[in-house]
Amino acid sequence: MNSYDELLAAITPTSGPSRDVFDPATAERIGTAPVHDASMLAAAVDAAHAAQPGWAALDDQARRDALHRAADAVEAAAEPLALLLSREQGKPLNGPNARFEVGACAAWLRATAATDVPVEVVVDDGTDYAELHYRPIGLVAAITPWNWPMMIAIWQIAPALRMGNAVIAKPSEHTPLSGLALISVLNQVLPAGVLQAVAGDGALGAAMVADPAFGKIMFTGSTATGKKIISSSAENVARLTLELGGNDAGIVLPDVDPAAIAQDLFWGAFINTGQTCAALKRLYVHDDVYDAVVDALGEVASAMPMGVGTDENNVLGPLQNRMQWEIVDRLVEEAKADGGRVVVGGNPDREARGNFYPTTLIADLPSDSALVVEEQFGPALPIVRYSDVEEAIALANALDVGLGASVWSADRERAREVATRLEAGTVWINSHGGVHPFIPFGGVKKSGYGLEFGVEGLKSVAVPQVING
Ligand code: NAD
Repeated sequence: MNSYDELLAAITPTSGPSRDVFDPATAERIGTAPVHDASMLAAAVDAAHAAQPGWAALDDQARRDALHRAADAVEAAAEPLALLLSREQGKPLNGPNARFEVGACAAWLRATAATDVPVEVVVDDGTDYAELHYRPIGLVAAITPWNWPMMIAIWQIAPALRMGNAVIAKPSEHTPLSGLALISVLNQVLPAGVLQAVAGDGALGAAMVADPAFGKIMFTGSTATGKKIISSSAENVARLTLELGGNDAGIVLPDVDPAAIAQDLFWGAFINTGQTCAALKRLYVHDDVYDAVVDALGEVASAMPMGVGTDENNVLGPLQNRMQWEIVDRLVEEAKADGGRVVVGGNPDREARGNFYPTTLIADLPSDSALVVEEQFGPALPIVRYSDVEEAIALANALDVGLGASVWSADRERAREVATRLEAGTVWINSHGGVHPFIPFGGVKKSGYGLEFGVEGLKSVAVPQVING
């Protein structure tokens, strides 16, 4: 089952409610997604309940092997998966985009299989003896957004399966086909029932969160939805991992070589055309290097081709949906009204069929402009000048979100000092946004709580049990 048409046919509903899905670059219809309701969710829960005990009873090695087979299946279907992802999400095949995302799915499956979660002897002093074990929770709900629809799904699914849980995943209503196709490929090799998908909008997500069958909700999406999930989970005392919105700051210290950092600054901000939770979303640059950094970034930004994702030349694509396009457009217009200087872009073709917003850099902005303090989640980076690093640290910490941040400097120790003062779950030095399957990732403040990846991520989809004696 490795051609694009076969992949699409496997997830196209033959009965029941459905809806058309469109390419955000061309507005062409690309497929049909099912629209599931509470009865489909109930059927999935029943099947998961039936399958989970057998899955949990397997020895750990058998589940590791299954994740490796799942990675093999993803690799065998990599090109059609990437094509579907590109057509539905909009991200180009090339660059750090669709093929990269599918590759990351296989890599995360393998890394999750390779991570040990040993029994910990916490006390052994001759009098007392206690061990800490991690047991399966049971059923895990995996609810994902539309920006990295395959990779974020794997971040939730792989550790939950590895720890002996069954998973019911709900892709975003904006990118249902990508999630369903990935899960269909994984299910070529996984035992029936341990991984299922339901497709629908926020109401179906809310029904999942309210369902007492789920002992754990893995959620990645907006802070607004995260708050609703926290409220709803109280009834069942469900465990939560919440990866929510961010507005990551980057601080450029006066000792940098602007030309040397421009490319990495660019990709830190514009990966996935800015639609990335932990992208660089506001840049504070020291007066000494301000003009040179803005010019160098402008040069890199002007040279990056944006267009239809299936054209191999492109490395930037459209916004995935019109709602996000409107947000970016509003914030850029407000930034202009606030006195921002358009260095590149800022002039969208409002009549175009696709959701393209040009790569945009806005310099000389006041630090309270909406483009600085609100999450744009798109290809428009605000640049703010500062003269005292204390001021830059205060501005970086002034918002109520804290997913990532970065410090840019030729002096690693100086950069590390500044990093320790930033309120963010991850602070990168001389890069921004890179994730690694063995390095824990999570937010602080209203960017959420809980960690993904590595041994911490595996523990978070399990329940701790102490054996004392
Ligand atoms: P969203 O919150 O609108 O939707 C995310 C998912 O939640 C979708 O599947 C949606 O159907 C579902 N949902 C909506 N209402 C729900 C409810 N009441 N109960 C349960 N589920 C519900 O977010 P989005 O617009 O798809 O994604 C963009 C946001 O996600 C941005 O703010 C971005 O920063 C954030 N994000 C965060 C991370 C991270 O790791 N922290 C990663 C990617 C995106």
